[in-house]
Amino acid sequence: SKPPIRKIKKICCIGAGYVGGPTSAVMATKNPDVQVTVVDYNEDRIASWQTDDLPIYEPGLLNIVKLARDGTFNNRSPNLFFSTDVDTAIAEADLILLSVNTPTKSLGRGAGHASELCYLESAVRTIGSVATSDKIIVEKSTVPCKAAETLSDILAATSRPGVRFELLSNPEFLAEGTAIRDLLAPDRIIIGSLDTPRGMQAAQALADVYTAWVDPARIITINLYSSELAKLAANALLAQRISSVNALSAMCEALGADIDEVAHAVGLDRRIGPAMLKASVGFGGSCFRKDILSLAYIAESLHLFQVAEYWRSVVGINEYQKDRFTRRIVKCLYDSLRSKRLAVLGFAYKKDTADTRETSAITVVNNIIAEGASVRVYDPLVKKERVWDEVRAGSKQPELVEERLSVCGSAYEACADADAVIILTEWDEFSNKSVEDGRRHGTNEEKGQRCLDWGRVAGLMRKPMFVFDGRNVLDPQPLEAMGFRVESIGKGTAP
Ligand code: NAD
Repeated sequence: SKPPIRKIKKICCIGAGYVGGPTSAVMATKNPDVQVTVVDYNEDRIASWQTDDLPIYEPGLLNIVKLARDGTFNNRSPNLFFSTDVDTAIAEADLILLSVNTPTKSLGRGAGHASELCYLESAVRTIGSVATSDKIIVEKSTVPCKAAETLSDILAATSRPGVRFELLSNPEFLAEGTAIRDLLAPDRIIIGSLDTPRGMQAAQALADVYTAWVDPARIITINLYSSELAKLAANALLAQRISSVNALSAMCEALGADIDEVAHAVGLDRRIGPAMLKASVGFGGSCFRKDILSLAYIAESLHLFQVAEYWRSVVGINEYQKDRFTRRIVKCLYDSLRSKRLAVLGFAYKKDTADTRETSAITVVNNIIAEGASVRVYDPLVKKERVWDEVRAGSKQPELVEERLSVCGSAYEACADADAVIILTEWDEFSNKSVEDGRRHGTNEEKGQRCLDWGRVAGLMRKPMFVFDGRNVLDPQPLEAMGFRVESIGKGTAP
């Protein structure tokens, strides 16, 4: 009896974060006839999206935002809006993207393991109570499998009679640091829907938004619950690759083998492929750990204990890698960090982002502080206060942090009188590999940065000079010629 779902004219995105902001900006840019409003109850965040000092850094993001938000080019009218008026944007929208945070629960049952859905619940309650017309609701947030059932239940109980909702799952696969590139040229768009005529119509309406710039062959419509699980599965497999390579890196160090050579050799196998085989001090970011723990928790709640244990071991190896890296630093520095000064280069969890959520640097910096060192941190993009907050929050002895941490405005300031330099983020500017390498990634030029002058660093440091390369961004030979002792991940000295 209901009319069929028509073309989408107005989109509301709830959650103006790392996913909601960039995704909405790209959707708006590519669909000039669709009005996209991003809402959040965080007033500071919304205010900042309305300026040129955006709340998050992503290469290319500002241009895309300006294009749609300000209508600055091609005489187009603005069609991207940022607002704290959640209710109005919901009421007007045909399609609502849920891009709120779904962190690991910190309280109650499943604390430290399960996903916290309270933000999602609250957003959906608001939709239920505000909507006076039919809506398509899209889970963009990463959710536990079957979350759509919970959301449908809340909608059924809170909404006005006659108003209908179609729930879709459309997980986001962008990676921070390359969000715009990933959104503009996605490997695939997954749309999960219920296998009902209206569910499939809703999936088609969302697919039409994407076909404005994505090849339809890359848009895959699947079952709603498969789609929810596919996102957790993708992150679990990516993290599992990193942990597998890191586990091998420990063996390489003990055997005198080289993990970069092993990874290259292995990656040439077409069944394996070369991506995500880089050894490092460990993965960070807000997603991998929480999504694996969520997957393991779901397995456990299904009484699949062996499966839960398998996925948790991926997180276990990651913790082990961070601690192993710290132990190596202590061992090389003659078994004591007391009264030593260490320079930490890089604090973000990866390059080209200022995001520090769950960065390995929090653990490593706190570990070396606990060993007695004083630490000077430099990161090209992360704000000083952010470093302080993260290290304090991750410390068991915050008074030591006050005494021994400082955050510097340049790499040279951090390296002055240092016994060792520790690289924790793979920023191009720290690398001494060819300049072309840096240019290809674009970062140095874009931000007018220069590569670190390691000769100048050598002049500033105490002797002997150690470098611990937690991201394998250095070519050790030229540095060793300058007198540095370079320790890379997964590279042992042959016995
Ligand atoms: P975020 O914390 O940066 O942003 C979430 C925003 O939602 C916050 O600004 C918060 O204020 C807002 N919010 C929460 N509840 C709200 C409500 N009821 N009404 C209005 N605003 C509300 O989080 P994020 O990194 O963008 O991640 C969002 C989701 O996307 C998560 O589920 C995450 O797992 C998933 N995801 C993240 C990434 C990533 O790289 N960050 C990639 C893919 C998927």
